[in-house]
Amino acid sequence: MSESPIQNLRVHIYGAQGSGSVFPSRAERLALLRHANQELVACIIQDLSRHLDPQGRLSGTIEDILEGPISPRTIARYAGRFDVTEPRVYGGWTTCVRVTTADGFEIVLDCGSGFRICARDLQAQWAELPERHLHLFGSHSHLDHTEGFDQAAVCFDPRNHLHIYGNRQFLRALDYNLGIFSRQVARAAQGVQTPIHFGLMPATFASYEIGALPAAEADGPPLKSVALRAEEAIHLGATTILPFEVFHPAPCLAYRIEREGRVFVFCTDHEWRREAGEDAEWRRSQVAEDRLIAYATGADLLYRDGQYLRAEYEGLKGIGDSGAVPRIGWGHSCIEDVVEMARKARIHRTLIGHHDPNRSWSELNWLDESISRHGATDGCSVELARAETEFDL
Ligand SMILES: [Zn+2]
Ligand SMILES: [Zn+2]
Repeated sequence: MSESPIQNLRVHIYGAQGSGSVFPSRAERLALLRHANQELVACIIQDLSRHLDPQGRLSGTIEDILEGPISPRTIARYAGRFDVTEPRVYGGWTTCVRVTTADGFEIVLDCGSGFRICARDLQAQWAELPERHLHLFGSHSHLDHTEGFDQAAVCFDPRNHLHIYGNRQFLRALDYNLGIFSRQVARAAQGVQTPIHFGLMPATFASYEIGALPAAEADGPPLKSVALRAEEAIHLGATTILPFEVFHPAPCLAYRIEREGRVFVFCTDHEWRREAGEDAEWRRSQVAEDRLIAYATGADLLYRDGQYLRAEYEGLKGIGDSGAVPRIGWGHSCIEDVVEMARKARIHRTLIGHHDPNRSWSELNWLDESISRHGATDGCSVELARAETEFDL
């Protein structure tokens, strides 16, 4: 995290990967290494050309070029003169975004596997602080948005108080395996997904349930939570957080975060059903898309799910080595539609996330370059979301 003081809101992306964590393959790592080596050799050749005599021969010794005797230290110093392009890392860990406010509130959106790294940073920052508060807002219950919770250091420190907001399914997903709210784990769940449970987690956990689920989807009595309504603002100091529903196979929330006139909208896992139809699913998707556009219009920063290209969504083309199967109804939007929406809604900067785990690194690079080139219009930019990036609003 940047050391400079936070003026208003600082957004840090810890995880932008969709569906499952990924690690670059050996072939991708080797390709990257070859590319970096080539760049470095090109830099060295250019540098050596400064030491040529009129006949094109090297005019000095290696020691002259290294400015010292040949040693690991002088070689490292010489190599350090050249800037080799830093590889862009897009995802890696699944969804987790941190927002820190100038008045000291720590807000985290989703606890995918990126939450482990986020929690490590929070613990380091809090250091000896005797009492700490974290406000975690969940989008929905799916594993790629909850899997980092039981590995997060913030859960294992008795000085920490976690205020956890989300719809009932999200809160239940955390409680079912870990018992953090109800202080019990159903016998059937004990040790099934994780050896961790509430008894091993000394932090305190409070739940805030957003929106009521229809009775058929509620799955048992509500947890003992503070009840909040969707589209009703939550205030943390000078920051306003407004949850609203999007369209996904599981009930899912997006969040609009505003402070001193600057707006960040976090919308993961939302499908805009692009084929026009008149069935109930299509109508629900359209209503959710319209709501998202209304809340995101003019925003300074938008993080939005765009997992597929249209041809992949429609099943005309596979992703990486995966087969060409229609991905309609899987709960994710198309990249081209997000670019179009960002332009129409005049969003200053848009980060397209929830990257498909089948997509190769080189294809992500290619996509990022073409989106950035074609998606940019006056005052608006669109790019792929990248882990380990920060934005000051
Ligand atoms: Zn997801
Ligand atoms: Zn999902």
